[in-house]
Amino acid sequence: MPSGKFITGAQNTWCPGCGNFTIQFALRNAVQGLVADGIPLENIVLVTGIGCHAKMGDYLDINSFYSIHGRTIPVATGIKLANPELTVICCAGDGDAYAEGLDHLIFAAKRNTDITVIIHNNRVYGLTTGQYTPTSPLGFRGRSTPDGTPEEPFNPLTLMLASGAGYVARSTSRKMPHLAGILSQALRYRGFAFIDVLQICATYFNMTELYDRLGYELSGHNPADFQAACRKAEEWDYNSDSPIAFGVFYQKEKTCFEERFRRYPPAGGGREEQIRAFLERKR
Ligand code: SF4
Ligand code: MG
Repeated sequence: MPSGKFITGAQNTWCPGCGNFTIQFALRNAVQGLVADGIPLENIVLVTGIGCHAKMGDYLDINSFYSIHGRTIPVATGIKLANPELTVICCAGDGDAYAEGLDHLIFAAKRNTDITVIIHNNRVYGLTTGQYTPTSPLGFRGRSTPDGTPEEPFNPLTLMLASGAGYVARSTSRKMPHLAGILSQALRYRGFAFIDVLQICATYFNMTELYDRLGYELSGHNPADFQAACRKAEEWDYNSDSPIAFGVFYQKEKTCFEERFRRYPPAGGGREEQIRAFLERKR
């Protein structure tokens, strides 16, 4: 049961300068905002994957579930289906969600599962000391690619738009107030909310100079316009030196997976009666 202090006393082992600190406090602020709005703290659940980001579950004092690599989204989907009253947040890494767990990410967007997915996209496997991921740039030199990766990165924003995500945003660990604002908005969005957070890995891929030089906040963009969102998402391909926009690229109200799923209740009565009836049938 969370203490209400939001930050635990666990020893923090992230490297000095790691962008995870910014994400931790931005998410803390966003969760505090939900609680201030009357959402019970015990109704907020965090699911993490495997990687440096996953320590968020140790450091944020909210109900959390440490899942396995690439499987944050199926765990979060199950939690949300079992109890739709919960606000379910996924923190996942880029290696976690864009490689091992990519199919889950695409299908959660397609289904419009009502969860918020925050990708700590440092564009490297940090915990395992610096291998390339699906968003590392062409030529990235790491532990597994000492001569540089011969692969171009993919663009997670265009992927999510094509997969049907109703809320697609990007922010960065370099902009704490911006990130806190986006997370606060995403947590209130009803449906699948996706935020790609360009996170600094201070030790294995420090892109501070690039994000500060090329980054800008979206203005005059209409997030209801799907074609405009696609054009804006293609502005930077995660490889070039093009401008990097931060903000909400696309937002649309859609029917959630849980609402459609609940059209076919197994039996009459409340939730507990339905579960009992289901278990009885399985005896
Ligand atoms: Fe952060 Fe990178 Fe250190 Fe991991 S390896 S804690 S992502 S700076
Ligand atoms: Mg990573």
